Amino acid sequence: MQMKRAGRIHYIAVDFPGIECSTQGFTTRHEGVSRPPYNSLNLGTNTLDQQFNVEGNRSLLASAFGVNQDALVTLRQVHGNDILVIDEPNEDYSHFLSLESDAIITNQPNLIIGVCVADCVPILLCDPEKRVIAAVHAGWQGTAGKLVSKTVEGMKSEFGCNPKKIMAAIGPCIGKCCYEVDTPVKQAFVKGGIVWDSCAEPSGEGKWQLDMVAANLDLLLLAGVETDAINVSGACVCCHRELFFSYRRDKGETGRQMGFIMLTTP
Ligand SMILES: [Zn+2]
Repeated sequence: MQMKRAGRIHYIAVDFPGIECSTQGFTTRHEGVSRPPYNSLNLGTNTLDQQFNVEGNRSLLASAFGVNQDALVTLRQVHGNDILVIDEPNEDYSHFLSLESDAIITNQPNLIIGVCVADCVPILLCDPEKRVIAAVHAGWQGTAGKLVSKTVEGMKSEFGCNPKKIMAAIGPCIGKCCYEVDTPVKQAFVKGGIVWDSCAEPSGEGKWQLDMVAANLDLLLLAGVETDAINVSGACVCCHRELFFSYRRDKGETGRQMGFIMLTTP
């Protein structure tokens, strides 16, 4: 992953080697129009930021990749396990903003699908053979609920994708260094069937440092995605105030960066 410029924004570009059917990456907090504490490229519609600033920022992102703001699809994320599938063109995609769901799969070109995050893990998927992409929002609940595995399953069942052909990118999120969790999180992981010791380190009585990247990496491998096909950013959003929003670090008063992916026209 490396910083690239598109239109007015810089973003962390993800390169899937040899694959030219999609454009994808992770935004930083820079070059938007929002004021502190949302400065400045706040792309989340569910913050207390001025909505016209968020609209302006979303428009900047869309135009940077040559599409109208209507073609930037994000959802009402609720830390659940529902997946939206878009398999035909829509006149207007703005109604999806009120749809409660935490992952999107599509085979439609020139549509930016995105997930907004401020600590949670943004994950992008692309099957270049079937020309199918997905964006996943996985906080601890989505991780415990194996949402990324379910999304790979959805790509298989809806579009006939082969996990061995899927490329994946795990974006910047809160790192193990900064993410202390307690017993309810452990219980949810264990209930979900995730091996707790493989992604959490004890840090005190009833406390652990949780590595959500490791957990989601395991889930991708278990779903059949190849190791070499998985890109991992590794950046901790909480450690890097200069680049990213972090809900935990900023005590909830912060913006949202976005993991986004778009199929280009064949
Ligand atoms: Zn950190």
